[in-house]
Amino acid sequence: MSEVVFIGTSDAFGAGGRRQSAVFVRGERGGMLLDCGATTNTGLAQLAIARDEIDVILVSHFHGDHFGGIPGFLYAALYADRRRHPLEIVGPPEIEQRVRSLANAMGHQLGNREWTFPIRFREIRPDEAVDAGPASLRAFATAHQLEAHPQGYQVRLGRESIAYSGDTGWFDALPRAVAGSGLFICECTLECAGLDFHLSLEELREHRDDLDCGRLILTHLGDAMVPLRGQIEFETADDGLAVKL
Ligand SMILES: [Zn+2]
Ligand SMILES: [Zn+2]
Repeated sequence: MSEVVFIGTSDAFGAGGRRQSAVFVRGERGGMLLDCGATTNTGLAQLAIARDEIDVILVSHFHGDHFGGIPGFLYAALYADRRRHPLEIVGPPEIEQRVRSLANAMGHQLGNREWTFPIRFREIRPDEAVDAGPASLRAFATAHQLEAHPQGYQVRLGRESIAYSGDTGWFDALPRAVAGSGLFICECTLECAGLDFHLSLEELREHRDDLDCGRLILTHLGDAMVPLRGQIEFETADDGLAVKL
């Protein structure tokens, strides 16, 4: 049986004092992170999840609240954990260049030190399928700022499947992209529709019947969504929420 633990569930701005996007998926054959926001090391420590459990970091797009934690993760894996086993970083085109540039800007250069573990980068494009660590992945394009190379994923672990929206506005192909998933982790930044690059409760209500998924859990909650938890018909994630698949 696989398990999903929400490490961070806020929007980009830390709404409600929550951590930024990261979801830990523990499968029978290893572990992976769906996104790695800047607060991920803090969240893993608080939830007693060892970085060593993570074989793959899967990145949805190049915004800091989704991949800004990778340089710190790598440094901690090297200096705090003395990690020995490989880490695979999978994401949209340019994943390696973007992570290296970010690490340089943060003073955490990747190139000028002895790594105790291999770091492997792998690109995945919309409609492509890739096996990584414990999972089979399929990417789909989403409606978010294009310069961030946004995409969502279907993650298959044995017979279980998780769909993850990353950041996106509503688009008509979304139901098809997540169809059949046992768990759909869907962003819901806003209460009312108004942006074409983030989803709202209003739009999800309008389209709920179009979504053919098992359990639906909303995350990436903004200021207006945080106080609505527990008062709406949708399940919402809090930091630390653990879900068995
Ligand atoms: Zn975001
Ligand atoms: Zn974003």
